[in-house]
Amino acid sequence: MPQETIVAADLVIPVAASPIRDGAVLVRDGRIAAVGPLSDVERAAPEAEVRRFAGHTIVPGAINAHGHLGFRRKDKPGAAPFSVWLKELISKLPEKESWTPEAARDSAREAIESGTTYMAESSPYGECLPQLAESGMAGTVHAEFFPGDYPGMGPQERVEAIFESVHKMRRGLPPRVDVQVSVHSPYTVDPASAGLAAARSREEGGRLAIHLSESPEEVEFVRGGTGGLVEIFGNNDWGGQGVSPVQYFEETGVLGPNVIAAHLATAVSETDLDILKATNTAAAHCPRSNEYLDCEVSPVPEMLERGIRVGMGTDGLWSSPSMNLFEETLVAIRLHGMSGASGLELATLGGARALGIDGETGSIEVGKYADLAVVAIDSTGDDLGMAVIEAAAGGGVAATVVSGEFVYNQTRS
Ligand SMILES: [Zn+2]
Repeated sequence: MPQETIVAADLVIPVAASPIRDGAVLVRDGRIAAVGPLSDVERAAPEAEVRRFAGHTIVPGAINAHGHLGFRRKDKPGAAPFSVWLKELISKLPEKESWTPEAARDSAREAIESGTTYMAESSPYGECLPQLAESGMAGTVHAEFFPGDYPGMGPQERVEAIFESVHKMRRGLPPRVDVQVSVHSPYTVDPASAGLAAARSREEGGRLAIHLSESPEEVEFVRGGTGGLVEIFGNNDWGGQGVSPVQYFEETGVLGPNVIAAHLATAVSETDLDILKATNTAAAHCPRSNEYLDCEVSPVPEMLERGIRVGMGTDGLWSSPSMNLFEETLVAIRLHGMSGASGLELATLGGARALGIDGETGSIEVGKYADLAVVAIDSTGDDLGMAVIEAAAGGGVAATVVSGEFVYNQTRS
């Protein structure tokens, strides 16, 4: 590929600026060097190769703020309630070992072919790192650790062990692929380990992924120490705190600006929203998974109103029908009565803000990485954002560009 390429289409929606008819993006060394009308961009870079997509719209690539790659589409555990689903999932873990790499490759491929350019993935001990690293997407694997797997060790030693393993996994990775830690949830990680891991992540300037306030049973466990999750995790005896999961994780020292909290779907109160805002904790909204597992609806409009950072997440194929983030976003738009423009922002720049990477991706702006989705659209109508989301949700992504490289292209352009 030449050093300079112009990617052009009938329409460019930069998200951070107004749409441009007959627009173009100049890519130089993987980053965006110019964006504007094709004629202007061509004048600025007369030597550049032009790849023009007629009948298409260019948008920033989708940012998946919470996904799991390691599940295949078949064998999905039966739906709600959450604890029954989780119990079945856990019973399937031994068989899962034999096909996780294949599932992770397929899930990553599906994400790329639906326009995803960055994914925050969570998997046990980071098991899906090889597949994310070879996929062509940018992203982070959050290594989930389960203190119960470290018999005879105290919280400090467990946390040392997971961070040491994460540091080793970072060696030799492609550019823009990273490994961080996940404190899986309030019901799987004891408070001492959770607090220490969060403190360590902050010290390192890292990002921490968590699941939070997802199901009614999680709320019941944290508040009363009772319910379906107690039956599964009999040794996890720290429930019954008398507070909400959000309050509990604040008191444990987990929450903060480097934290991406998936779900926030059940019993999220005004007080919880105040805590999320005060701690500048970000949210990943996964409405299809929440529906499948009979959780409640995350109060996304209320979060956005308060200035809480929100991105979209697909979760994984055992609780969600696809890895297509635009399809997930279409559900959110309908659920919350949002405009197409707001939805498109959630799927792209919103996710980047939530993950703290909006300085490098999430919108088509000079200086950011050239992370783009090229979407086939016949007619855009009044709501350009909605037209793009609907087309991309329905399989209309024709090409995906990460750091200026076409990692997927089903056209001849
Ligand atoms: Zn999840």
